Amino acid sequence: MNEKHSGGCRCGAIRFVADDEPEHVSYCHCADCRKASGAPVSAFVGFATQSVTFSGEKPATFVNFTVTRSFCPVCGSPISYFDRRIPARVYFVLGAMDSPENYRPTLHAYVAEKLPYVHMPDGLPTCEASSVPRPVADKV
Ligand SMILES: [Zn+2]
Ligand SMILES: [Zn+2]
Repeated sequence: MNEKHSGGCRCGAIRFVADDEPEHVSYCHCADCRKASGAPVSAFVGFATQSVTFSGEKPATFVNFTVTRSFCPVCGSPISYFDRRIPARVYFVLGAMDSPENYRPTLHAYVAEKLPYVHMPDGLPTCEASSVPRPVADKV
């Protein structure tokens, strides 16, 4: 694929594009993502930070420990997840992508925190906690 990977918030105030192919696509079942999204399970598309360009409104951010989550200050849509311990990558919420059908998750992270009634029999690998190595264990 040579097409650019674009996305944005619900109202269109924030737009972004990634020039490189995604490096990581996964579901996250952690409680922190659940609070941040309001949804029982989240999904993320990770790109090399250097390949991503934002345009439009400056995203609002919420910082928790090493993690910065961004969202649109106009419509409130979640946009991205960034952990400064893994600065080479930025993770967009899958639903922010313009063509979310193009990003098929490859694994389930934080299944230890998965809600008991969430069943996704897709045969994908599971991780009890984070699927991405970090200097200190913490949540995606
Ligand atoms: Zn917006
Ligand atoms: Zn999570």
